Amino acid sequence: AISTEQAGAWLADYAQVIGENAAMLTDLDRQTGDADHGSNMDRGMKAVAALDVSSFDSPGALLKKAGMTLVSNVGGASGPLYGTFFLRFAGALDDGPDDASGLLGALRAGLEGIEQRGKAERGDKTMIDALAPAVEAFETQSGAGTSAALTAAAKAAARGRDEATDLIARKGRASYLGERSKGKQDPGATSMTLLLESAARTLG
Ligand code: ADP
Ligand code: MG
Ligand code: MG
Repeated sequence: AISTEQAGAWLADYAQVIGENAAMLTDLDRQTGDADHGSNMDRGMKAVAALDVSSFDSPGALLKKAGMTLVSNVGGASGPLYGTFFLRFAGALDDGPDDASGLLGALRAGLEGIEQRGKAERGDKTMIDALAPAVEAFETQSGAGTSAALTAAAKAAARGRDEATDLIARKGRASYLGERSKGKQDPGATSMTLLLESAARTLG
């Protein structure tokens, strides 16, 4: 579905975007959590960006290493969750068909990994509220090709992120706020939207 070089371009693009948005992500987390989401993600993605893409012989091998790098470099909820996303995405990608349906299978596996690991579901006001509608939109559009499907997925992620703002958080630190989490944009849904926008730029 994608080449090792494309997977590398995705990770490099996301690392750059996270660097540019780290302060904004940390600011969102200051309002609902412990003010570290941007620095967590930036530390993890800087370590991922330091991987030598040419030393991996498949996109899955690279993305698997990226997942392990996130797990070991990022503390907090987001490290294991993004780590699991990339690990599961990677496994499904290398085992799947070499077209848009292969990428769909990888996205779906990544989503399921996050759901299992964090025991959250759609509507709990987490990164899942951006990723789940993105996977759905990708599926709906996958007949039109990878590029169109990724563009639709990125748009759906942004919509999901925005819709989650009005929800009450039921998982993670933001859930400690109860009703007061209403109206606050979720940091993880925001970084997940950036990941899908990055995918649309680099994997299409
Ligand atoms: P921590 O809360 O440990 O400081 P981060 O600030 O890096 O970790 O990440 C917070 C984000 O992680 C939240 O905005 C939310 O989107 C996501 N998150 C937290 N708990 C869960 C969970 N159980 N399932 C899915 N996502 C979660
Ligand atoms: Mg935090
Ligand atoms: Mg923390």
